Amino acid sequence: MRKKLLLILFLLLLLSPLLANNPSIVKVELSPSHQVDLLEVYTTGNISPQGLLSDNQLTIDLPNTQVSDNIKVVRRNSTRIGKLSIREISSQNSRLTITLKKDVDYEIINIFGRNKSIIEVYDRSDFAKDLMAAWERKNLKAKGQKLKPVKYKQLLSRSRQQLEGKIIVVDPGHGGSDPGAFSANKIPEKTLTLQTARQIGLLLQQAGATVYLTRNEDRSSNLKDIVDFTNKIKADIFISIHYNFAYNRDVSGTETYYYNSDSQRLAQNIQKNLVLGLGRKDRGVRRGMFYTIHHTNMPAVLIEPAYISNWQEGDLAGSASFQNKIAAAMAKGVISYFRNTHD
Ligand SMILES: [Zn+2]
Repeated sequence: MRKKLLLILFLLLLLSPLLANNPSIVKVELSPSHQVDLLEVYTTGNISPQGLLSDNQLTIDLPNTQVSDNIKVVRRNSTRIGKLSIREISSQNSRLTITLKKDVDYEIINIFGRNKSIIEVYDRSDFAKDLMAAWERKNLKAKGQKLKPVKYKQLLSRSRQQLEGKIIVVDPGHGGSDPGAFSANKIPEKTLTLQTARQIGLLLQQAGATVYLTRNEDRSSNLKDIVDFTNKIKADIFISIHYNFAYNRDVSGTETYYYNSDSQRLAQNIQKNLVLGLGRKDRGVRRGMFYTIHHTNMPAVLIEPAYISNWQEGDLAGSASFQNKIAAAMAKGVISYFRNTHD
């Protein structure tokens, strides 16, 4: 009898981690105002939400949580936020899905010890689009130097590689007479994009892909030549590397652009991994009519991993370790994109 009791106690001890409840989401409250919408998520324990902004939807994943049976959703009308829904996506994870009515930025603030997270949603100030459009007009008028792409050959391997057979074009933005933006420490964007593109190229090559860099030295290229080359070699995907700039040095974070609808999923896979890997502010997956991603025939993205006009991110962008984190995140994003492509 005593033995049996001990056995039961022992089994309970083994099972206890499974029986311990994750924190529950008990209430979501939206309080809009002129400057900012506050979305408060009340829980029964500490949580670590992870957001992903993609066009008109903000997804907040709430790992290791469950949704209470008596969840309350309290809201008033907002000019920024449309539909709000919260549900369990697995036995361990919940997800808050927010439909957006306009372009926004957001910030997640965790108030540990008080069982609450606050998501601030505010109007977006757009920096990249105008600057990029002006630069593209200038680039397309200038002839540029003859395109001199460099091939990173597919590495031979005994085992099947994740990106085997894939052709990927990596385009380091700017170059030569076109320096791009300057970091807070006066490093030209063209130098940072080339360093980063080389690291990305190496990791994609190691994963089995054939990679072309559109330049591997400090030279200027015409955007149309880049597009023509990429379409001619029938690349599977195209990735353009830029760094972002804003006159306001406080602005920071990671953005990924796409244009064609068949590029959106690639952009989402990449942005998700960049945000997780770099730990910078998620400034979202955005649709942008930039020349290269508009005119290439395959899924194409343009990444802006950080704002080099920001002191901290300008320093980071110049460091090999940060560039390597970008490359690792890009490789993960590209691999997960192809893993889920069924064609
Ligand atoms: Zn640029």
